[in-house]
Amino acid sequence: MTDIQTIQIEIKKSKTGWIRKLFFFPAAIFGFLMGLVLCVTIIGIIPGFFMMTGSVGIFMTGLNYRQVTCPHCNKKKYVVSQAEDFKCDRCRKPTIIEWTKP
Ligand SMILES: [Zn+2]
Repeated sequence: MTDIQTIQIEIKKSKTGWIRKLFFFPAAIFGFLMGLVLCVTIIGIIPGFFMMTGSVGIFMTGLNYRQVTCPHCNKKKYVVSQAEDFKCDRCRKPTIIEWTKP
């Protein structure tokens, strides 16, 4: 008995790979630090928190990570682009990723 599901994700074109990294990394780091400073001031803890999580998202995108959603429990997870499968952190179930061309 298998309980393995397959999800389909569109491949992103990355012609501007290194240019994107060059731009995204400083932006992500700056955003993260700004968020951190806002969190420290307590008053800005909410926007600071969003800035930090947003920056992590940008950072992951820059590293060619893709956000996928577990079909079993709907937990969101980052996987490396082109990964063949992933294992959910929450329900421990494996999922096969099928990369589709846009
Ligand atoms: Zn799951």
